[in-house]
Amino acid sequence: MLKKIRVFAQNIYDSILAEPFALDIREVQLLAFLYPKVDWSKVRYFKGLPWFAKKGFASAMAIPSTYTFNHVHIHFKEFDPKKPYQLVTLVHEAFHVLQYHETKSMNSYFAFGFFRKFLRWYLAWYFRRVIPNIFRKRMGLSDANYDAYRYHVMETPAYSIEPLFGESLTDYYLYPCKVYEQQYARLIQEDAAIESPTNPVLLFLSMCITLSIAIIKPILESIALLFAVLLGAKTWKSRKKE
Ligand SMILES: [Zn+2]
Repeated sequence: MLKKIRVFAQNIYDSILAEPFALDIREVQLLAFLYPKVDWSKVRYFKGLPWFAKKGFASAMAIPSTYTFNHVHIHFKEFDPKKPYQLVTLVHEAFHVLQYHETKSMNSYFAFGFFRKFLRWYLAWYFRRVIPNIFRKRMGLSDANYDAYRYHVMETPAYSIEPLFGESLTDYYLYPCKVYEQQYARLIQEDAAIESPTNPVLLFLSMCITLSIAIIKPILESIALLFAVLLGAKTWKSRKKE
């Protein structure tokens, strides 16, 4: 019985706080080369998707940190840089970090937790497509959702860098970073050039949603984490030491 409670507590802990990991120096150099404007010290990497995305179709996502003003977290369902498609996913998610930077969502005093301009714009553009998909085009919920994601104004440029980077992948694996960088200067993304959403109602709705999440999420998660630890869940740090 005690063991069952501890396993249950550990599951709660792990689904709220995914396992952090560090990128290799090569990937660090790659991101600094592709997106030179971004302050990569404000980005953290995690194995496993956040609890609210586990049942969805995403294989990775770049979300705001719940407990800080400026950090961004990249979550991967799984991550192995030796697998080319996962490195492409990293480059895709890192493009979203450039969008965070461009929308002053990781360098502003008006940002906290999920209350970031990046997320407000992302949601507003998402609603702009998903609402007509459901009510005008009569699409099913999951098709409407996938279409609104795949053709999202902030997703299409992230997807367009994938084949661009993919063409040079073999060379990335073959050459030292410096040689690679000299050959592929055209891959550098200086800016993300995002259009701001024009519909004030959708922007207001997105503002209310992100503000509510920014306030409620840390409270609920902290309570759940406290209970989990009291019931015997171990932190990632203590498990690493064992
Ligand atoms: Zn994306």
